[in-house]
Amino acid sequence: MSNRRGILVVISSPSGAGKTTLARRLLSEFDDLEFSVSYTTRPPRSNEINGRDYVFVDDATFDDMVARGEFAEHAVVHGNRYGTSRAAVERALVAGRDVVFDVDGQGGRALHGQFPHDSLMVFILPPSLDALRERLKKRATDPPEVIARRLAKAIEELAYHREYQHRVINDDLERAYAQLRALYLVRKLGDAAPEDARAAVAALDEDAAYRHAEALIAAGAR
Ligand code: ADP
Ligand code: 5GP
Repeated sequence: MSNRRGILVVISSPSGAGKTTLARRLLSEFDDLEFSVSYTTRPPRSNEINGRDYVFVDDATFDDMVARGEFAEHAVVHGNRYGTSRAAVERALVAGRDVVFDVDGQGGRALHGQFPHDSLMVFILPPSLDALRERLKKRATDPPEVIARRLAKAIEELAYHREYQHRVINDDLERAYAQLRALYLVRKLGDAAPEDARAAVAALDEDAAYRHAEALIAAGAR
């Protein structure tokens, strides 16, 4: 086993901004990257598989897991409970594997607070609030009242971007993916990262992405 500690790749975004799409793609490109399968009390969507997307549990089971200290963090999101298994964090830190965490802003804050030197924090932003609304509708796996609730919550969630190291604007999926991939490779390999990844990170306009996030927050408050 190597002495290297793995990276906690924490990817968050308002619901509908595209974090699942981007995270899945990163996981499919890099075989040695793992996904932290969270536990949730939310019912599965039609396309979700127990054990792959989430472990779907009832409230009593979730309570037992909290009592036994099995979560590195847990939170209530949209009225449902979600928790990150401590085992996933340990795989990253002890076994030296890189693990992707798809968590909300509260979860990101908690993970970064506990593992500040081991986490790569990336916040995915929508190009606009209109685009976010359209994507939530297009996903069409949730009923309309759930979509409305998710949009309101998404606007609140945007404020968490300030606690993340990096922001990626998911306008064009290919471009957004190239940025996420480059951030990961440069964090993992440093100067040994491929030239295209180093160039992509050097070309990132982090200040403009920060301003974009703030503009979305301002638009949401109107
Ligand atoms: P999240 O995990 O952040 O809730 P998803 O990855 O499920 O978001 O994406 C929400 C919807 O937006 C999906 O239907 C997805 O296919 C679509 N989507 C993701 N990225 C883009 C993009 N760059 N352009 C257009 N649609 C996108
Ligand atoms: P969804 O129900 O759409 O899959 O996820 C709703 C929100 O819960 C998303 O923002 C997702 O990132 C977040 N989430 C998923 N798993 C966890 C977790 O283990 N902890 C926290 N804090 N949030 C989670």
